[in-house]
Amino acid sequence: MRVGTGFDVHRLVEGRKLVLGGVEIPYEKGLKGHSDADVLLHAIADAFLGAAGLGDIGRHFPDNDPQYKGIASTVLLKKVYGMIKARKMKVINVDATVIAQEPKLAPYISEMERNISDILNTGIENINIKATTTEGLGYTGEKKGIAAQAVVSIAPVT
Ligand code: MG
Repeated sequence: MRVGTGFDVHRLVEGRKLVLGGVEIPYEKGLKGHSDADVLLHAIADAFLGAAGLGDIGRHFPDNDPQYKGIASTVLLKKVYGMIKARKMKVINVDATVIAQEPKLAPYISEMERNISDILNTGIENINIKATTTEGLGYTGEKKGIAAQAVVSIAPVT
């Protein structure tokens, strides 16, 4: 079995949609980025690349490459999953945390888990998404941005 970790942060700005785990969430601001800035899927994708020893998301999907402008991060995660499959590896589990002061994410967690399990072709019981605030502290607490961290494990297909 191999394990990887991922971490990502995006800035909250006006005039952008908030997309987390492939779910569009009603909020007064959204995350700024070259893609749809889905910070959760970026952290998960980076964790898979780490587990497979394949570098990081910036290496595979440069943020100055026009083909990735505005792209849904579900597509990026699907591409990363393709790399895992090509290495004859399968997903064991994903455990990730979104760090955001607002909005409340509990109503959207199960839809995020369903999206991610569909993309990764694995059971929903293998995907665990959590959310926390930082009690008003720091850039997430001050609602300047949203962070996400992820741990994933993969194993050879037998
Ligand atoms: Mg990112």
